Amino acid sequence: MDLNSLYRVYSKHLKEEFGEKVYKLPVNIPCTCPNRDGTKGIGGCIFCGAVGSGFELLDENLSVTNQLKSNSELIRRKYKANKFIAYFQSFSNTYLDFDRFKNYMTEASQFDGIVEIAISTRPDCISQEQLEFLEQLKKDTGVEITIELGLQSSNNKTLEILNRKHSVEDYIEAAKKIKKHGFKLSTHVIVDLPWDLTEDILELAQLLNEVDTDYVKIHSLYVEKGTKLEQMYRNGLKLLSSEEFINRAILLLENLNPGIIIERLIGRIPEENCVYANWNTSWWKIRDQLIDKMIQTNSYQGKNYKSARRR
Ligand code: SF4
Repeated sequence: MDLNSLYRVYSKHLKEEFGEKVYKLPVNIPCTCPNRDGTKGIGGCIFCGAVGSGFELLDENLSVTNQLKSNSELIRRKYKANKFIAYFQSFSNTYLDFDRFKNYMTEASQFDGIVEIAISTRPDCISQEQLEFLEQLKKDTGVEITIELGLQSSNNKTLEILNRKHSVEDYIEAAKKIKKHGFKLSTHVIVDLPWDLTEDILELAQLLNEVDTDYVKIHSLYVEKGTKLEQMYRNGLKLLSSEEFINRAILLLENLNPGIIIERLIGRIPEENCVYANWNTSWWKIRDQLIDKMIQTNSYQGKNYKSARRR
């Protein structure tokens, strides 16, 4: 089965764009998040754990070059890999002083084989100075820039419950700036938030189409140790079923522009950090069920895209 007939597959896109297989190398820099240190909020989003989504990372005190070197060595040897994406993954990687930001990005761009830098951050946390610097870096080095924004929901009420401390409007504004500067935009969404309704998924699809996001990462809601969500879960919060997750993910895909690249169909979390995730089964089993359902129901990305645009 060619998955590209169901949705636009990220790995295939990378191969087409860069002419060969490209591998992501995580980079860990000392930074936090304005939603954790008191600037915007304390404690962070209800689902955010101690590592801010940065699992399996090297020590943040290692230089960017040393992390890229260490993470690329085995891949170079094993797969004869030549091209890499430096992925600044955990917390808000634009939430640091400009000089440090500049130095980290420059260092990454100079590492042998880097074709892209991916920077994960919050919608309300990117300065004009950073955008202009990245635009120049891209011009000077030819390295592609992708900025990943956590959005999670298209409903401001849900964002409040999640304690995101930013709004849908903040996301739209950031997305516009990112696109205006010629960068790729990647958006993280959680489709099985118990506070969202089916209509919110349709709204989400429309929003992602309208801001012209290049990539979407679909996640299921998982409960990480030590989070506010863990307390809510232990106090009886009812999570959605895997069937509901699959239905919502398919609904999103059917209403998305078929040109948007799907970076991920479902997220995962290491067992040691996990209270509950993916209905206590392997993430890939849920992914396979999702794909099977798409095949059985003759579903595919963009199936209802035109009607989504008319709404
Ligand atoms: S914005 Fe990101 S890093 Fe900050 S608290 Fe929320 S999930 Fe964690």
